[in-house]
Amino acid sequence: MSRDAPPVVLKFGGASLGDPTAVGREVDAAASGRTPVVVVASAREGVTDLLADAVAHPRARARHRDVHALLTAMHPELPRASHRHLERLAELFDALERGPTGDAALADRILSVGERLAVGWLAARLTESGRPATPVEADHLGLITDNTYGASCILFDRSRPLVRAGLRRVMARGQVPVVTGYFGRSLEGRVATLGRGGSDYAAAALGALLDARRVELIKRHVAVLSADPTEVPNARPIPELSYEEAEELAQFGARVLHPLTIEPARAYGVVLRVRSLEDPSAVTTITGADPGRRNRALTVLRPLRLLRLRVPGGRQRPGIVAEVAQRLSREGVNLVQLYTSSALLCLVLEPGQVLAGIRALAPVTREAAVMVDGPFRVALVTAIGDGVLADLDRLPRVAVESAEGFSATPRALSLAVPEGRASAVVRALHRALVEEAER
Ligand code: ASP
Ligand code: MG
Repeated sequence: MSRDAPPVVLKFGGASLGDPTAVGREVDAAASGRTPVVVVASAREGVTDLLADAVAHPRARARHRDVHALLTAMHPELPRASHRHLERLAELFDALERGPTGDAALADRILSVGERLAVGWLAARLTESGRPATPVEADHLGLITDNTYGASCILFDRSRPLVRAGLRRVMARGQVPVVTGYFGRSLEGRVATLGRGGSDYAAAALGALLDARRVELIKRHVAVLSADPTEVPNARPIPELSYEEAEELAQFGARVLHPLTIEPARAYGVVLRVRSLEDPSAVTTITGADPGRRNRALTVLRPLRLLRLRVPGGRQRPGIVAEVAQRLSREGVNLVQLYTSSALLCLVLEPGQVLAGIRALAPVTREAAVMVDGPFRVALVTAIGDGVLADLDRLPRVAVESAEGFSATPRALSLAVPEGRASAVVRALHRALVEEAER
């Protein structure tokens, strides 16, 4: 193994860690020749949910004990050095029970324990099977993030020298580094998680920092499909996507990728491959755009709410759109989608933010005598793919007739439809844009 050859980064999700033999085989396959391998691991399946539940009930001592016992049971034959994470977790729960509530940095410390246990556990399994491996915790390594606990962003320039030097040291000893996903170390020096599902993002970032040959995101079951198979039974794997298509897919609610995963890969030109451990034929390669390719994927984002603002005199009020957007953002209300015509503004918001949204807009609505209708229950159905505007004439009737609003770029075309129609709309769109287009 040459330590200067570009490595391959293999990221295993929680469910794939359930099969350490398969993980070992993947490491061998990627390491063929002179290619060094860096493994990134999420917490074992269900672990982060348990920790998040514990954090959500800060005073529930008995619950914390149960979670601690479950986590211990889920990591049998944990190496000695990793036991301190379980001891630490008991102390952190203690601090949670006694301390002030709402300490986001403490929550992140607790949430990070799942990945710390996972890398100790996985490195031990790899080492036992003849693949010497070393657990690496990303905060100690120097994966530096901003201070936004619970949803932090990785700072590449600061992280680069630390991450490169640290991982090279491990690889130079002939060891496979097994690095925690999901979190890094904030500028203040505390643990900061990257948001749920953040191990994909961590893996893409490590790949970018190491100039990796490629980053493989290995899921146990599914890969990237043309739609959510529980919604569209005919969904099929998508072999290739451009960075931009994948980014739209992640942003529009395809749960298979964390929304920030694509950015580092695109910025540093790292090839991403999303694949299934169980089904070797399900592979999606994400690289630069290829104008000859036609991909279509559909997503559904729900539940959402739509507010209709009727603006008397519409165009006579320049700046109203900007004013609405600014007032919402000042109150922290996320404007999921905005449709405008001359006298009508349609806002799509998250259900939990509707009241805050209406409150934030009160000064404008009062002053301009704007009438507010709603909230209406809607879902956002989106068709994604380079050149998707060319599909406008194929849109099925049910989609067009249901639409409460419509927005489109050459890469994503999305319709707000009544929540009750969303399933029918996404299936009809899949038939028209994916299945029929294949013939
Ligand atoms: N374990 C974390 C989560 O479940 C991170 C990840 O799985 O990517 O959200
Ligand atoms: Mg997980």
